[in-house]
Amino acid sequence: MSEFAGQTVLVSGATRGIGRAIAGKFLQAGAEVIGIYAGNTDAAASFAEEFKEYSSQLSLLRCDITKEAEVGGLFAMIEEKFQRLDVLVNNAGIRKDALLALMQSEQWQQVIDTNLTGTFYMAKQAVLLMLQHKYGRIINITSPVASLGFPGQANYAASKAGQIALTKTLAKEVAKKKITVNCVSPGFIATDFINDLGKEQLTAYKKLVPMNRFGTAEEVADAVLFLAGHRAAYITGTVLDVSGGL
Ligand code: NDP
Repeated sequence: MSEFAGQTVLVSGATRGIGRAIAGKFLQAGAEVIGIYAGNTDAAASFAEEFKEYSSQLSLLRCDITKEAEVGGLFAMIEEKFQRLDVLVNNAGIRKDALLALMQSEQWQQVIDTNLTGTFYMAKQAVLLMLQHKYGRIINITSPVASLGFPGQANYAASKAGQIALTKTLAKEVAKKKITVNCVSPGFIATDFINDLGKEQLTAYKKLVPMNRFGTAEEVADAVLFLAGHRAAYITGTVLDVSGGL
């Protein structure tokens, strides 16, 4: 499978969870992958080891997407080394749950800074590069809580709803330039992201899912690769749910 041979793909949060599956599938599909992560070097080393047969296609970098200067430096490197960017997957995200009445300002700000402002910094730089070649695919990983809401996640839900609004707006701005912008919206996916939840809570959440199971990172990655590919050329400004029917 080499659908993405010759393409340059940037994935944020590439070394754990959903991003790891996305980056892995792009490598297997022939892409040059730039994977970024925040600071977990053990996860980065384990990712590099798992995909060592693709090491010539892989650049792994530490880059904090909440820092505009770091994102600027990342894109300067991409332009110099690859001259182009075909696909951006804004996958990095965090949650810091608390009921709104008890939520600290830092909990609000950190989640908005990472999930929404980080998406803005990355998308802005990506679009500037993609416009040069009049081609691009941007896929933002949002969440069903953006429209459903979820107790304890006002910050997270607001950041994810903001991502959808950004996606729909940017999609209209760049549609004529053959750049598509879409969201994938995973339901409950078994990753570190939900590891802190207790067994009882996880069982209760599973009951909310019509398919009665959590999804896998690979199932989310398949949807991302579909939207990044040529078969999705006429799809833009949409949200593709991968949620087992939530
Ligand atoms: P994980 O917690 O497993 O992984 C998060 C990744 O994001 C890590 O690689 C982490 O880097 C990276 N990251 C976090 N903050 C930053 C930052 N400031 N700069 C750069 N990278 C950063 O999460 P998932 O894989 O589960 O989630 C991926 C996306 O999917 C998120 O946007 C999340 O909101 C969304 N999602 C997840 C769901 C789930 O059930 N898992 C459900 C719905 C949506 P490092 O390893 O260095 O810490």
